[in-house]
Amino acid sequence: MIKQFAYFKPGTLAEAFAALQTEGSIPLAGGTDLLVELRGGVKSADLVVDLKGLPKLAELSATADNTITIGAGVDLNFLVDHSRIREFCPLLSEAACSIATYQLRNRATLGGNICNASPAADMAPPLYVLDAVVVAAGPDGERRIPIVEFFTGVKRTSLKRSEIVVRVEIPPVPEAKMAFFKKQRIKGHDLAAINMAGLADSGSGTLRISIGACAITPIMLKGTDQLYRENKDVEKLAEKVAALAVNSIKPIDDLRATAEYRLDMAAVFAKRLVRKICA
Ligand SMILES: Cc1cc2nc3c(=O)[nH]c(=O)nc-3n(C[C@H](O)[C@H](O)[C@H](O)COP(=O)(O)OP(=O)(O)OC[C@H]3O[C@@H](n4cnc5c(N)ncnc54)[C@H](O)[C@@H]3O)c2cc1C
Repeated sequence: MIKQFAYFKPGTLAEAFAALQTEGSIPLAGGTDLLVELRGGVKSADLVVDLKGLPKLAELSATADNTITIGAGVDLNFLVDHSRIREFCPLLSEAACSIATYQLRNRATLGGNICNASPAADMAPPLYVLDAVVVAAGPDGERRIPIVEFFTGVKRTSLKRSEIVVRVEIPPVPEAKMAFFKKQRIKGHDLAAINMAGLADSGSGTLRISIGACAITPIMLKGTDQLYRENKDVEKLAEKVAALAVNSIKPIDDLRATAEYRLDMAAVFAKRLVRKICA
């Protein structure tokens, strides 16, 4: 049974910050993670502060130079369907579309997905390769956190007490090829046994690859730019990136996959990714 809690729906960010200074308070977005955890006793709260009604968190905008700003409260179906996202960051749409069901994606938000900080969060690897910046806000103002510094452990982030994520900024994306892969146990909705995102820009010789569900946080492979520049043969590059991926992760056995399976799939996905975005 769920423990009783008070509920407050602020109309402004200032009201939200004030409420979140209360001992035992917790922010709520779509509730698709939080309510499951409250019901299961994994988390407890005396006061749930519902961020869904805050207009600032629901905005998605783009500047002339194509910096894309996504409010933390933007729901995942909005990302699946948004023309600008589909055109410039298609892997964000693909990752969002891979999450759960249509009904659940109408509630689930981008902010909730990263703040829940599951190592398997499907929106994380795409945000890593897009070099996203998480903008946190609290009573002391705003703070910009590179996405690679946002996840600090299983279900842990670099957010301070009373801070919330207000938006995620994606810097102008080069003319790059991108892809997102996810392996689930079942064909229906399930968390990833492993997920992987990649971005390759042949003009600047940039190759970014991020892997989820294979360590305590999503990880970014290091040294891929150099491999990309030094290996013009795609098959050779694929082999080297696969070896790098396998050596960079620390998977565990859990209900979704064994560590051994994850290591094998990391090599398979890395090769597929390189063939798809570097050819
Ligand atoms: C059946 C089912 C299937 C699922 N499948 C997947 C899947 O395939 N892939 C996947 O990645 N996830 C999956 N999930 C998990 C979940 O749906 C996503 O993580 C979702 O994006 C969470 O968003 P939310 O808005 O519902 O977050 P909430 O549940 O409202 O919040 C999640 C956490 O983040 C905190 N929080 C929320 N917003 C903010 C904010 N702006 N600032 C600070 N803290 C905040 C909350 O306090 C809470 O701790 C699934 C969940 C269910 C129930």
